[in-house]
Amino acid sequence: MRRDWQARTDAVIEALRGERKRLLLQCCCGPCSSYVIEYLIKHFALTLLFYNPNIQPEAEYGRRLYWFRQVAERYAGRLALMDCAYHGEDFTAVSRGLEGEPEGGARCAGCFALRLRETARQAKAGGFSFFCTTLSVSPHKDAERINAVGLALEKEFGVTWLPSDFKKRGGFQRANALAREYGLYRQAYCGCLFSRAAPGGTRPGGSGGGAENGRRGEDEI
Ligand code: SF4
Repeated sequence: MRRDWQARTDAVIEALRGERKRLLLQCCCGPCSSYVIEYLIKHFALTLLFYNPNIQPEAEYGRRLYWFRQVAERYAGRLALMDCAYHGEDFTAVSRGLEGEPEGGARCAGCFALRLRETARQAKAGGFSFFCTTLSVSPHKDAERINAVGLALEKEFGVTWLPSDFKKRGGFQRANALAREYGLYRQAYCGCLFSRAAPGGTRPGGSGGGAENGRRGEDEI
């Protein structure tokens, strides 16, 4: 049975009664972050973490980081940003042996867990009340799986996971609208080279053929 994660987000925010607790948000890219920041900053004191060792090659990481920063700078003085160094070796380790998995399979489960584990670890170290990720805004990302990982890490690290499915309530459409308004780069594949090599992973005008102006379809963040 699929759960209503948006209703759970609402319940957490309601319970805060206006108190702005510190939340560490793992951000996957500029377009996804644009909507999630806009939504969460009304309720939390946000710190952003661009920990995405899955993005390959490193030049693509730099490109996505640049556009992510463009979004973050719109909130200058209202949120904090953590170190954004590239740690591609972390993803290489968790994806070993899973190279042939389809998008949405076991490699992706490991990829989510890697990114969320680091977020939970840093949230614990930094004394945050909550941790979360922008990932669920994409229709390509399974909110059940993301929340299952988050809740398991909540138990392990003792920091509260904010349950979420940001694609609900028009979140994905809003992310697309903001990406257009801000003129953001929108990548043509999920992140790893395996997803770029998969059928439909790149397309003319995407990152393989003109990254700065790459545009994916409405359903492809
Ligand atoms: S397809 Fe995307 S989510 Fe899956 S392993 Fe590659 S980068 Fe991670």
